[in-house]
Amino acid sequence: MSPSRQKLVVLGATGSIGVNTLDVVARHPERFEVLALSAQHKVDRLAEQCRQFSPRFAVVGTDEAAARLEDMLRQSGTGTTVLAGIEALERIASLPEADTVMAAIVGAAGLRPALAAARAGKKLLLANKEALVMAGPVFMQEVRRNGAILLPIDSEHNAIYQSLPRGYSSDLEKEGVRRILLTASGGPFRRLSLDDLEQVTPDQACAHPNWVMGRKISVDSATMMNKGLEVIEAHWLFNAPRERIEVVVHPQSVIHSMVEYADGSVIAQLGNPDMRTPIAYALAYPERIQAGVEPLDLCRIGTLDFERPDFMRFPCLRLAYDALERGGNAPAVLNAANEVAVEAFLDRRLAFTRIPAVIEQTLASVSWEEIATLEDVLAADAAGREAARRHAAVPRRQA
Ligand code: NAD
Ligand code: MG
Repeated sequence: MSPSRQKLVVLGATGSIGVNTLDVVARHPERFEVLALSAQHKVDRLAEQCRQFSPRFAVVGTDEAAARLEDMLRQSGTGTTVLAGIEALERIASLPEADTVMAAIVGAAGLRPALAAARAGKKLLLANKEALVMAGPVFMQEVRRNGAILLPIDSEHNAIYQSLPRGYSSDLEKEGVRRILLTASGGPFRRLSLDDLEQVTPDQACAHPNWVMGRKISVDSATMMNKGLEVIEAHWLFNAPRERIEVVVHPQSVIHSMVEYADGSVIAQLGNPDMRTPIAYALAYPERIQAGVEPLDLCRIGTLDFERPDFMRFPCLRLAYDALERGGNAPAVLNAANEVAVEAFLDRRLAFTRIPAVIEQTLASVSWEEIATLEDVLAADAAGREAARRHAAVPRRQA
């Protein structure tokens, strides 16, 4: 074992980002050592990953899942200690011997462990955009205060990071940046009429034209809330005011985002839509490594198209811009309402077109508060969830 190997913790190892991360890691055994893995439900898959990478720790959601995992690993000789629950997630995210933490839990559940990694000053690879949307000011303060290195995994933000001179920005104006252009595929329903949108099913919403992702982010892409969350994420990551962040619909998902400069230059990052590119970029940063991604064949693609987003058919994008403008607890309430509404849609309790309605009603019914601490963020999340559950429970006719 080489002492210079990067010691890695993967939170959400069994998800789409987690699996892609381990795919890149497995290509470079001389560079990376897996220290800990986590998963909520898929114990079988986590057991397989433990057999392959022999992590020191594996964390699952419940004691019952932990007992099952221990059972599965008993004869394997991996030497893995199995733990359960949120405190265990915070513990593995801040292990003194860990260099790098991949935060790939979906939704608000990922906030506390991601924050623990920031507080421990780790190299933090952030896929869990909801954490930053909810807790922007608190999160960025912890990153700065503890010298954590925050590298975005979201393909758009990774592209912007690569297109800015120093990745980050303290003052876009001074650095000659006019606008950040976030590209959006437009999702599977880009061309659907409002009437047709009313009828769409969870499986249709999860069939993304370019990316294979977890179900929650797939629905977010279909409503374009994903882009809304990404606008807020870009605001915090790049210190960018709302009016400098623009969304451009680009159905091929080849340009992952762009930065426009005062002199008229536009710098973009391109690649096949494969999350292993931003993952490998961040894992190896500042070096470059093989990611197993096919080379980009522009001649085969032929044409790149662009259009303006339709704020009327995709109200979630407007709601997210508005929440960013309002600041305080509004982004956390927006995120909580979205998680509740998406879950209700995936359970077939809510029509697709009611997702933005539930979020809008929730934002209108939760009073505005300042956000200064993690407790404030968690309170906003709880209030948003409670209100959204009420609004999502109203039968469709009365809504
Ligand atoms: P996923 O649903 O495929 O995987 C989620 C992972 O989180 C799983 O390992 C699951 O076990 C774990 N998890 C779920 N609920 C949990 C809980 N309550 N507590 C602890 N762990 C829990 O999701 P994904 O598509 O991999 O997305 C992960 C994150 O990355 C999301 O925030 C998403 O927005 C972001 N992201 C994903 C993609 C993508 O291509 N999939 C791209 C950009 C950003
Ligand atoms: Mg993205």
